[in-house]
Amino acid sequence: MKLQLSEEDAAFREEMRTFFTTQIPQDIRDTVTARRELSKDQIVRSMQAMNAAGIAVPNWPVEWGGKDWTPLQRHIWHEEMQLAGVMPPLAFNASMVGPVIAAFGSQELKERFLPKTANLDIWWSQGFSEPDAGSDLASLRTTAVREGDEYVVNGQKTWTTLGQYGDWIFTLVRTDPTVKKQAGISFLLIDMTSPGLTVRPIELIDGGHEVNEVFFDNVRVPVENLVGEENKGWDYAKFLLGNERVGVAPVGSTKRTLAQAKEYAKTAGAGGTSLLDDPLLAAQIAELENDLLALELTALRVVANSADGKPHPASSVLKLQGTVLQQAVTELWVDIAGPNALATGAGEGSDVPELARTATPNYLNYRKASIYGGSNEVQRQIIAGTILGLRG
Ligand SMILES: Cc1cc2nc3c(=O)[nH]c(=O)nc-3n(C[C@H](O)[C@H](O)[C@H](O)COP(=O)(O)OP(=O)(O)OC[C@H]3O[C@@H](n4cnc5c(N)ncnc54)[C@H](O)[C@@H]3O)c2cc1C
Repeated sequence: MKLQLSEEDAAFREEMRTFFTTQIPQDIRDTVTARRELSKDQIVRSMQAMNAAGIAVPNWPVEWGGKDWTPLQRHIWHEEMQLAGVMPPLAFNASMVGPVIAAFGSQELKERFLPKTANLDIWWSQGFSEPDAGSDLASLRTTAVREGDEYVVNGQKTWTTLGQYGDWIFTLVRTDPTVKKQAGISFLLIDMTSPGLTVRPIELIDGGHEVNEVFFDNVRVPVENLVGEENKGWDYAKFLLGNERVGVAPVGSTKRTLAQAKEYAKTAGAGGTSLLDDPLLAAQIAELENDLLALELTALRVVANSADGKPHPASSVLKLQGTVLQQAVTELWVDIAGPNALATGAGEGSDVPELARTATPNYLNYRKASIYGGSNEVQRQIIAGTILGLRG
């Protein structure tokens, strides 16, 4: 494998770097760099700026706004946006429902939804998980019973990320309860303003409101909102989940956060001394830097070997190690911030630096990373079975 970028790819990297550091509004990049929560408006503006430049959905078919980029170019695009403190395009739109509609939806669904999905004119939520149906997703119980030209949907979804902003929700629903569980599932698009649909917040350990429960009480959905064929939803869900895992190794943003921690540590000791003089901390940082470099090289190897746009099985390794390192760096931040990490409630006028104040909420928030996108225990099972050939 060649590690040196070709001249063409190096120029592409420069082009992306220039775009992300000059064309995405500064307030958005400042919010990401300070590790504060982005508002809905900021997320929308950020994706719309990318879409205006034609680079919000490079993974889609070209006729719907995609780019004929190589996997390596897509990797560079993703890494440069993270290094610049830019939030990647909303995953529910760009890497989940968009590719599914483009691959399996009718022409009518494509025309109706894809342009608005790419431009975040529609904010999508993901309605897959249910109580007792997370890792064992095929056990889901939400039903859709056909009555004439409509499905009548009843049931509950949970952990719906940012569902409070959602305009539409893509769901997995049971349309045939009499067959093997994977065979009776359909992929249905539901307008979140439909009568009978309720979104209820779940309170999180970091005090934030990021996930929700969604209830369906006799929600009527036109049959034309079915994606693909009835009872084939499991195939589309597997396609979607493979894509979901590819984007969850945020090497670029973890690198940025680690570099910030190192910089902060330089003057964070007693009387402004450097914490980097502590050999234990210095070794911890060096180890994390090495692990990140190894992960980056692994990501590049996966990129170099992924054929015809299909997710590589090693995407499970990226998900696993990417989130392990993401969590390790949020923990390092709490260590470096020391007692200042307790000042989470301090406001704007506080003497405590903002990055120290956000250390604890971030640490707590990122416990989620090893659960969503398929829990890390389940990724280990996949790695053992499909990559190492260790079938039990
Ligand atoms: C912050 C957050 C946001 C989320 N956002 C969304 C969203 O927007 N939309 C959505 O549909 N879902 C979302 N999810 C749900 C997420 O996909 C599930 O939480 C995840 O798949 C795990 O399922 P579960 O919570 O039911 O846990 P369970 O599957 O009950 O797992 C419990 C424990 O058992 C372990 N376990 C389960 N099966 C195995 C196995 N076969 N081998 C070894 N260990 C196993 C798990 O690893 C875990 O430790 C989100 C979750 C979180 C935490």
